[in-house]
Amino acid sequence: MDTIIIIWLVLVGAIMGSFLGCMGYRIPNKIKTTYPSSFCCFCKKPLKWYMNIPIFSYIIQGGKCAYCKKKIGSIYFICEVVGAIMFAVNYILFKFNMEFFISTVLTCVLIVTIVSDFEYYYISDRVLVLSVIALITIYFIFDKSNLLMRIISAIVLFALMYAIKLFGNVIFKRESLGDGDIKLMGVIGLSLGFLNSFISLFFASVTGLIFSLITLKKNKEGIIPFGPFLIIGALLVLYFSNIITPFIYGVFKI
Ligand SMILES: [Zn+2]
Repeated sequence: MDTIIIIWLVLVGAIMGSFLGCMGYRIPNKIKTTYPSSFCCFCKKPLKWYMNIPIFSYIIQGGKCAYCKKKIGSIYFICEVVGAIMFAVNYILFKFNMEFFISTVLTCVLIVTIVSDFEYYYISDRVLVLSVIALITIYFIFDKSNLLMRIISAIVLFALMYAIKLFGNVIFKRESLGDGDIKLMGVIGLSLGFLNSFISLFFASVTGLIFSLITLKKNKEGIIPFGPFLIIGALLVLYFSNIITPFIYGVFKI
């Protein structure tokens, strides 16, 4: 039974990855999310169904458009692979518990943000609002008693990040934190609660730093979109919560 569910989630994850990656392209470019159907970014020709099969079409076509032969960004392929793997991983770790649904919502936000933040330095408000609605619904179904605390955590984290931004702007004399990152931290506060969100910030900084060191040569402008790393940090906390939570409770003697 588990194997069937995992295979099903790999398929759903790949399809969602493809859809959400596409949204990450469409939303910043102000293209409607429902119309037109998938098309090539370069020659604008509509794709036939067999050119639009997640993961496989990209591999079979050698990462190129079937019409104009221009290279399709590997970022869309990455989105599909990330969706396929993480939907399955979320289930393997959490079955269909509350954490599965929280981590899957975060995975979806991650996939849209990978494209929109890396390619356009943009985090969509619409996506964040949808994720907040989804998360509140999840708490309503699984754990009503925690809902209020999580909402408070979200507001406190948002306010705190906003204060850090204002402080940073004065110190560095330039925009220190994007508004999208601040709102995203609110979503993470809602997903993880107060303490765990702080740990996630640590993971986000470490993964972001590793990435910026690896891409140091390519990335001449020196701007690293922080959004995807904030979500990766949050997912790492969820994945390793059985190690992290007892550790934190021990340190803070709660
Ligand atoms: Zn084309």
